[in-house]
Amino acid sequence: MRAEVVSVGTELLLGQIVDTNAAYLAKALSAVGVSVYRRSTVGDNMDRLVAALTTAFADNDIVVTIGGLGPTLDDITREGVAKALGDSLVQDDAIAANLSKFFADRGIPMTESNLRQARVPVHGRAIDNPNGTAPGLLFVKDDKIAICLPGPPNEFIPMVDDFVTPYLLEKTGNRGTIRSRILRVIGMGESSVEQIVKDLMHDDNPTLAPYAKIGEVHLRITARHDTAEQAEELVEERAALVRARLGRLIYGEDNQTLEQAVVSLLLDNGSTVSVAESCSGGLLAKRITDIPGSSRVFPAGLVCYSNAAKEDLAGVNPSTIEKHGAVSHEVAAELAYGVRKRFSTTYGIGITGIAGPDGGTEMKPVGLVFIALADAQGCKVERAHLLGSRSVVRTRAVQTALNLLRLSLLTQRH
Ligand code: ATP
Ligand code: MG
Repeated sequence: MRAEVVSVGTELLLGQIVDTNAAYLAKALSAVGVSVYRRSTVGDNMDRLVAALTTAFADNDIVVTIGGLGPTLDDITREGVAKALGDSLVQDDAIAANLSKFFADRGIPMTESNLRQARVPVHGRAIDNPNGTAPGLLFVKDDKIAICLPGPPNEFIPMVDDFVTPYLLEKTGNRGTIRSRILRVIGMGESSVEQIVKDLMHDDNPTLAPYAKIGEVHLRITARHDTAEQAEELVEERAALVRARLGRLIYGEDNQTLEQAVVSLLLDNGSTVSVAESCSGGLLAKRITDIPGSSRVFPAGLVCYSNAAKEDLAGVNPSTIEKHGAVSHEVAAELAYGVRKRFSTTYGIGITGIAGPDGGTEMKPVGLVFIALADAQGCKVERAHLLGSRSVVRTRAVQTALNLLRLSLLTQRH
């Protein structure tokens, strides 16, 4: 089944509100196996709304509208959908009575326009809205389905979960339970990850979808089956296949963060780490210490921003900075060695680079970062050219550092 999501509201077109509802709905639709072919946004204007809806019905089986169900004159979705579908609206006396009671209970006079909320399709019905006065509407006309939901997210979201998802599961014959899992991948870009699992991305059940994050990629596996156990089994089978292909590129699952994975490996190995950070300004220390229990593996972190601090705090040799510059392979290595020695840890990490937006040169462009990992065997330095804004470059540098440490811990273990 193909669907279009039509968001209605001039506020959306003006950028005054962000269409978070459409994003929520799109996820819910794909989770029940309905393909969203298009998302569109129209203002509160009847002619343009009807034109957009007519195109939407011509191209799709299902159209879901968001917003414009209220009592005011600019709330035109109800009438617009009826027009586009060639249906008409009639008053539902039970809803009208409820509305009268709602106003009477609050001592507010009810106007004629409030009664518009009691109008329901001839070919269809109202959808319960426990958190507001405007019910949603379901139109089923010829072979087309329209679902109209109110705009306020506290009304909208429960109606997606409690009506749209079960209704469409039933309609698509995809009844059953959905289970999903995220496999978290680091150390390879989205398109390369995609190449490795591309063939699996064509399957309907389980589905596999990549999501690019900063410095990592998430692969979401979603499966549907009659029971939760069966759905879980499908997910697990697919996860095993993906794991076999990606191996150590996968650092964790579901909500497990990279720093959680690293701290638990440090604990397992009985290892410790200290860090000396320049361009990342303490972000690596922050990420590690976000994890409860990290004090057992992380005694200290230094932020060595100036050259003098690199020398005084981490013991970097002034001549190394003079010869190679503060952003260099050599300084990163001395930061890592220095901090490791100072705090007597198994590992030392040094990070130095140019986070931008200024300060780059042809030889040393913005985004150039050296990340060093020292241990008893020696020191490994990664030279990375990281793309993005200042904060993205810093995040990517920390991701790279955590991953270097993770890979070393995995190797030590075996
Ligand atoms: P109401 O009865 O409140 O008028 P409605 O169904 O007519 O509800 P709108 O008037 O379109 O809905 O929107 C009401 C409010 O809901 C907006 O001011 C906005 O805060 C929120 N809203 C509307 N559409 C969206 C959307 N697509 N995503 C997120 N929030 C939205
Ligand atoms: Mg409104």
